Amino acid sequence: TSQTIRVELGTRSYDILIGEGLLAQAGERIAAVLPGARVALVTDENVARIHLETVSASLERAGIGVTTVVVPAGEASKKFDRLQEVVETVVGARLERGDAVVALGGGVIGDLAGFAAAIVRRGMRFVQIPTTLLAQVDSSVGGKTGINSRHGKNLVGAFYQPQLVLAATDALDTLPRREFAAGYAEVAKYGLIGDAAFFAWLEANWQDVFSGGPARTEAIARSCQAKADTVAADERETGERALLNLGHTFGHALEAACGYDADRLVHGEGVAIGTALAHRFSVELGLCPAEDAERVERHLQAVGLPTRISDIPGGPLSADELMTHIGQDKKVKRGRLTFILTHGIGRSFIADDVSPERVRDFLQREL
Ligand code: NAD
Ligand code: ZN
Repeated sequence: TSQTIRVELGTRSYDILIGEGLLAQAGERIAAVLPGARVALVTDENVARIHLETVSASLERAGIGVTTVVVPAGEASKKFDRLQEVVETVVGARLERGDAVVALGGGVIGDLAGFAAAIVRRGMRFVQIPTTLLAQVDSSVGGKTGINSRHGKNLVGAFYQPQLVLAATDALDTLPRREFAAGYAEVAKYGLIGDAAFFAWLEANWQDVFSGGPARTEAIARSCQAKADTVAADERETGERALLNLGHTFGHALEAACGYDADRLVHGEGVAIGTALAHRFSVELGLCPAEDAERVERHLQAVGLPTRISDIPGGPLSADELMTHIGQDKKVKRGRLTFILTHGIGRSFIADDVSPERVRDFLQREL
């Protein structure tokens, strides 16, 4: 059970391979796409402990020279110091433009290594080996790379596409359940945006997705296809790509209000609560049937995701604080907010004229 998604982007295209055993095939797969290339392998300490040996051995068997950089696990590695370390290692190993930076890890590693690939020698080859569900269905597709600034998340970066993505579904067996569920919030999102049949399929098959059965490969492939289609239509996010932000305006505000403390809330959990909020807000505005919002909440709860602001541990959040973060989420036009709202499951749309007062009142009731 393996699948290939071809991402077509104007002048270039690349494959996302999804299936079991791909870590041990990394060498041959990379050699097939980038013959003769040497590799700088970037990973984090957790992933290095569990999966680095498999990937390194495979690269060696394929005769690929490897330089490895291991950075600490976690969001804090998306910073200038780490970027410098990765860049200097790649340059110091005398890798050239035709050689590849390979990201082995979650979204943090993909964003950091991808940005390094974009700027060393004005652009080296780049390969993603995402090892979290979030990275496999979201961050490794679409070409956004970058690091955080002291002024905020993801403020420094580049659009930079890989030559190949290897999504090893069995690499997710070692992911903590909480991280798996967080990535699953993005999977459910694709159904909720524009594919009600996929959402219904997830309701019936989520247990198999979590336990690593054939439905896992299917869910990842359908998610990658949904993101790839959206990105192909709008590579630089001028229009429809914004739909991918379903649940994210509320979600980002919740993450910020929690000080990006992963003990309280990780990104996908913020998205889960944000998605439930977007549906309930749409019901309140008379746009969405109440039973659809209830169905969404039931499913997210079933997989163990939070759906209420009060589900967040560590004390209450204030509506005013959340509104401040929503206003900073660069989605404000002439005092009105842009939100992804919905007419029902699979029927999300971009609303660019939402009154901040309505949002505030809604949040006040939700606290
Ligand atoms: P992450 O990279 O921090 O990984 C989460 C945790 O899981 C880490 O502790 C990591 O060491 C560990 N881990 C990774 N793979 C593992 C495995 N197979 N087994 C055991 N542990 C493993 O976080 P993430 O959720 O993957 O990504 C979040 C990042 O992605 C954020 O920085 C976010 O901004 C970024 N992101 C980028 C895009 C994009 O389009 N570029 C989209 C969404 C999110
Ligand atoms: Zn997200």
